[in-house]
Amino acid sequence: MSVATSNKAGSGDRPVRVRTRLRKGDTVLVTAGKERGKTGKILTMVAEKNRATVERLNMVKRHRKGQGAQSPGGIVEKEALLDLSNLTLVCGRCNKPTRINVRVLEDGKRARQCHRCGELVDS
Ligand SMILES: [Zn+2]
Repeated sequence: MSVATSNKAGSGDRPVRVRTRLRKGDTVLVTAGKERGKTGKILTMVAEKNRATVERLNMVKRHRKGQGAQSPGGIVEKEALLDLSNLTLVCGRCNKPTRINVRVLEDGKRARQCHRCGELVDS
């Protein structure tokens, strides 16, 4: 008799992408975690996970087993992913962690801009 009404929204398992204005190559400050207060350059962005790796930060040691002559194994250090919400852009001009404004230029292109000093981040 009764019609099933299971229209619950938001049951998808795709993680919601956090809007980030950070990009590969940006210098960022880590604001939380064990690397808090340190700065580095973004090496890779993993947008699906809202994470990124930062040069020489959050290093983890991986113990590799040797697999023949080409890969002798041993301890390999590599950057582990950091959450994007714990990263803040450091402006190259005022040298401070800053928020990023996005400005639409006259030619329709979007440029990122330092919230503090107005310096364009992309040039
Ligand atoms: Zn600035």
